[in-house]
Amino acid sequence: AVTRKPIIAGNWKMNLNHFEAILLVRKLAANLTAEHLAAVETVVLPPFTDLRSVEGAIKDDKLNIGYGAQDISKFASGAYTGEISGSMIAKLGATYVVVGHSERREYHAEDDATVNAKNKAAFEAGLTPIFCVGEGLAIREAGNQVEHVLAQIDAGLDGLKTEQLKQIVIAYEPVWAIGTGKTATPEDAQEVCGAIRGRLTEKFGTEVSDVVRIQYGGSVKANNIAQIMAKPDVDGALVGGAALDAEGFAAIVRFP
Ligand code: PEP
Repeated sequence: AVTRKPIIAGNWKMNLNHFEAILLVRKLAANLTAEHLAAVETVVLPPFTDLRSVEGAIKDDKLNIGYGAQDISKFASGAYTGEISGSMIAKLGATYVVVGHSERREYHAEDDATVNAKNKAAFEAGLTPIFCVGEGLAIREAGNQVEHVLAQIDAGLDGLKTEQLKQIVIAYEPVWAIGTGKTATPEDAQEVCGAIRGRLTEKFGTEVSDVVRIQYGGSVKANNIAQIMAKPDVDGALVGGAALDAEGFAAIVRFP
């Protein structure tokens, strides 16, 4: 049987200053043992301005917690005011970056081509993308979620090399479940995560599809994580709101 190490990542969104960030990381660590952190890859995704202090908190205490950014410029450097490059993120010791979150797609008009360029920019800088896909409510109500998500998968992964595909983390986040308290049922999550893995097998073979971790995201809490993780094609969670509470997030990481 194929075993993939679970990965739980906390997306802080636009919350917490760099002092609050240190506190949250320390509290999180205080609620998790070395065994918990060995069993589940645990990642925090703070705002850019917190990365330096998160790096310090994690390295000073030698915590087995990963961290990354919430976005990346598709450009490597230059006259792009306000943008942050992959190499700047990597230089802070970060290893992950969220790409194509639905809030970026919706409020910053990121289309599939931009998301694809950002996945490539992440790999260029040595970062692992947490590549987000997911359907809105109208698409779900029309029953077209699988078709919609697979189109996002095809576009977002276009042109990536096999070694990159094997490393990427995919987050299936139905937009109607994000920040709404409405969690997809474990069966809903499995339907789409299973279809994503099927597409990976079809296009790239089991060499890729067996190792890629697929997260579910959308109102994940300590009281629903275990049922979702029990599904065969769900390998982790991308957590928003519940990641801002150290104890709540730790309880999610402790799901097994
Ligand atoms: C998210 O934004 O990635 C997310 C899943 O948010 P929430 O957990 O708050 O629904």
